[in-house]
Amino acid sequence: MKPFMYVRAHSVDEAAAAHAGRSTSRYLGGGTNLVDLMKLGVESPRTLVDVTALPLDAVEELRDGSVRVGATVRNSDLAAHPLVRERYPVLSQALLAGASGQLRNMATTGGNLLQRTRCPYFQYLGKPCNKREPGTGCGARDGVHRDHAVLGQSPHCIATHPSDMAVALAALDAEVELYGPGGRRTVPAAEFHRLPGDRPDLDTEIRHGELITGVVLPPETAGLPSAYRKARDPRLVRVRARVRGRGPGRRGLRRTRGADRIRRSGAPALARAAGRAGAGGRRADR
Ligand SMILES: Cc1cc2nc3c(=O)[nH]c(=O)nc-3n(C[C@H](O)[C@H](O)[C@H](O)COP(=O)(O)OP(=O)(O)OC[C@H]3O[C@@H](n4cnc5c(N)ncnc54)[C@H](O)[C@@H]3O)c2cc1C
Repeated sequence: MKPFMYVRAHSVDEAAAAHAGRSTSRYLGGGTNLVDLMKLGVESPRTLVDVTALPLDAVEELRDGSVRVGATVRNSDLAAHPLVRERYPVLSQALLAGASGQLRNMATTGGNLLQRTRCPYFQYLGKPCNKREPGTGCGARDGVHRDHAVLGQSPHCIATHPSDMAVALAALDAEVELYGPGGRRTVPAAEFHRLPGDRPDLDTEIRHGELITGVVLPPETAGLPSAYRKARDPRLVRVRARVRGRGPGRRGLRRTRGADRIRRSGAPALARAAGRAGAGGRRADR
């Protein structure tokens, strides 16, 4: 039994103060990923800051027509929300394609974006893993890697990222809102997840101590016909998120598509590939 401190924060400032940017602190959403990793010994936080009581549980339309999703909105609630189902069907469908009903009832928007890879070499302490412990090597490269990344991988890591939601958010040009010691900032969802490169331990652009406070869905992609397809095939798993008509200045089709192992190498890989591959949209320049 490893002791740890549990803090239930009721405001964003309280959560940030309790975390205090310490390397041994972790925010806790639904716990469906973090608690598993604690049981496996992959994560051993000394302080858990529960964020589920923060006032970040609303899906609301903003004055400019965008839709803001609070970080603690549960995956099931987000998938079922009328604003999302009507304006951003690709997001609703992507959420429903992930995990199970029970998990989606617990999982939060922030936690979903920051869930760690399900690579077994990452999850098993007896094997080397540059993502878990930098400099130890990649057990998957010469191991069992049928479900691992084809595109976007590096000599240091071939793990994949599991978030279906992140793919839809990238396709919709969503923005991730962050709050931390350096103040507030936003990062485009398509750039939020990093490719492994030589720092596979860094999954995303988030800085230590930063809290995801929400995600903003822009009006430009609202109401466009869109769909998410995740076909599970043991040999080749394909996933496709499609948004038609890019709005003013973004004519044409943007399509994120690829084998599951490509998708899982990170939402940005897909989004960037989609921009390059077909849309003729601005995404290609990012
Ligand atoms: C059996 C199984 C199958 C699954 N299949 C799929 C699938 O097919 N597709 C898919 O997309 N997902 C899948 N998942 C993953 C599931 O979606 C995630 O476990 C879930 O989304 C994580 O959300 P959470 O709120 O429980 O996160 P937590 O476990 O609470 O946290 C995950 C990480 O996010 C951090 N965190 C949480 N909230 C915040 C915040 N607001 N700000 C900053 N940091 C935060 C935590 O510190 C932690 O590092 C599966 C999970 C399981 C167990």
